Amino acid sequence: MEQTQKVEKVLLCAPRGFCAGVEMAIKALAWMVKAFEAPVYCYHEIVHNKLVVENFKSQGVVFVDNIAEVPEGKPIMLSAHGSAPEVVAAAKANGSYVVDAVCPLVTKVHHEVKVRSKKGYRIVYVGHAGHEEAVGTMAVAPESIHRVESVEDVAQLPEFEEPTALLAQTTLSHRDWADVADAAKEKYPDIFTPTRSDLCFATTNRQAALMQIANRCDAFVVIGSANSSNTNALAQLARESGCESVYRVNGPEELPTDISGIVGVTAGASAPEHVVQAVIKQLAPQDGVEEVTVTQEDEYFPPPRNLRNLLSGLEAAASLALGQHPSNQPELPDRYLDASSVLVD
Ligand code: SF4
Repeated sequence: MEQTQKVEKVLLCAPRGFCAGVEMAIKALAWMVKAFEAPVYCYHEIVHNKLVVENFKSQGVVFVDNIAEVPEGKPIMLSAHGSAPEVVAAAKANGSYVVDAVCPLVTKVHHEVKVRSKKGYRIVYVGHAGHEEAVGTMAVAPESIHRVESVEDVAQLPEFEEPTALLAQTTLSHRDWADVADAAKEKYPDIFTPTRSDLCFATTNRQAALMQIANRCDAFVVIGSANSSNTNALAQLARESGCESVYRVNGPEELPTDISGIVGVTAGASAPEHVVQAVIKQLAPQDGVEEVTVTQEDEYFPPPRNLRNLLSGLEAAASLALGQHPSNQPELPDRYLDASSVLVD
């Protein structure tokens, strides 16, 4: 669809799009697709992006919301958002090859929940109701966790006799987190908080880049799916920064035709870069694109250990079949592989 008004310029946020956790999860699922006969099953959307999920469906991946839907013995991948301990156990009991693509930064929060709950803490957890990451984290110690989302939720919590800890979903809007955290610290002055908040680097970097340009923009386009928490946090932040026209879109086909002036563009952590480029092409800015970089991200999360072992074993077997010595095999080329490149056209 053609733009009816002129976009003057695009201010493009950096960092944007795929984070290290999403890169790892997408590549891990792609490795699973290569290693096993179809179908590979994936518990929950591998990442919260409609286009990525559709792409994997076209590669023969079946997404399920219940492990009971997976036929016995079939390979299962667990999503990047982290799964409840009983889901992990059910997947393993299914007799399948199970790879958990949980982001290590979500695992860190699970670990903290486990440790604090064992020590008898009451945990005030800031997270969105029903979000898969929050559901999985709360399931680690349901009897110890109290989920809150607002200052009012904190006010309604009882006084606890036990020590308290404050933990959070990794993808919250910084402002949502800060207000609720302040309220919790006021209510429980001795509350334990990790040295760095649980909001992950990818979330905070993308929000910082947006804040850097929001006041220069007439409109803002945030690329990502409706169920992506960090995408919604970006859109919310753009609105709170005074930008009146904020559009969350899956891709260029959802852009409004009357967008004009200086347009900010960013993408949530699970949105592919080729979609960003397609959006810019559709916006067709007359004065071009100015990329505004607040920091470089060079984090890399390797594939889950059992997947690495499996792939190395397959590589070694393939070398033997070719008459090569397995030790001559190069390291798994995962690090230098771009997750966008494993999504088929
Ligand atoms: S947004 Fe943060 S927590 Fe989520 S996958 Fe990316 S790095 Fe991990």
